Amino acid sequence: MSRLPTLFVSHGAPSFALDPGRVGPALTALGRALPRPQAVLVVSPHWMTPTPRVAVSSHPATIHDFGGFAPELYRLNYPAQGHATMAQRALELLQAAGLAAHADEGRGLDHGAWVPLMHLYPDADIPVFQVSLPARLDARSAWAFGKALAPLADEGVLIVGSGSLTHNLYEFRSGHGREEAYAAEFAAWVREAVERGDAARLLRTLDEAPHAQRAHPTAEHFWPLLVAAGAADLTQPVHVLEGGIVHGVLSMDSFAFGLGGVTA
Ligand code: ZN
Repeated sequence: MSRLPTLFVSHGAPSFALDPGRVGPALTALGRALPRPQAVLVVSPHWMTPTPRVAVSSHPATIHDFGGFAPELYRLNYPAQGHATMAQRALELLQAAGLAAHADEGRGLDHGAWVPLMHLYPDADIPVFQVSLPARLDARSAWAFGKALAPLADEGVLIVGSGSLTHNLYEFRSGHGREEAYAAEFAAWVREAVERGDAARLLRTLDEAPHAQRAHPTAEHFWPLLVAAGAADLTQPVHVLEGGIVHGVLSMDSFAFGLGGVTA
């Protein structure tokens, strides 16, 4: 099997599950265009642990790890199976990279995983497993974490970093309303670095990009971008999934790194 791309997906708010906006249909089209993976590996900021954990459950439950949203969101279920073999392989790769990674038997799928997957693979017919995001990261260690997982992309695993390209929940608005210009400026700066395959610039994003502190008051929704980029072959073309800005401040832009000849 040829190497699969790696994805960064902006999951925005849980309501994205029912409100696909622009990026939902783009993810569905991408899912159809990609070679069928054996499994999807998701890294999400809604599962952070002191040392990495790899979910090995064969039937991960759908976790509704959010409060205050519409009741129908709590009834959604994403019934994909797990993939114990590939999860074990991820565990070995992390351990080989010197990380004290452990298997986790009971963990289900958090909304950072299942919400975008409802658009990417709406039939839930591809096995999914999560790898937790280490709680203490900086840009270089987030990148290295992705690099440690990168061999899986050659083995039929679609590596997905799920975060949000901008994520200031202090400014979150229910409904949509006016878009804040700073979020678009930050997103444009990152997009340019992504399109150039400029690893050095991506690594400096939170220090140098305009409005970085406002776009990411805390960094956990940004690190999955560096995990996905670190796992990617940046010499290959990138496909941008334009997501626009939702809730005034959340950029939904998403990226498929190393898409090569696949057209989506
Ligand atoms: Zn989130």
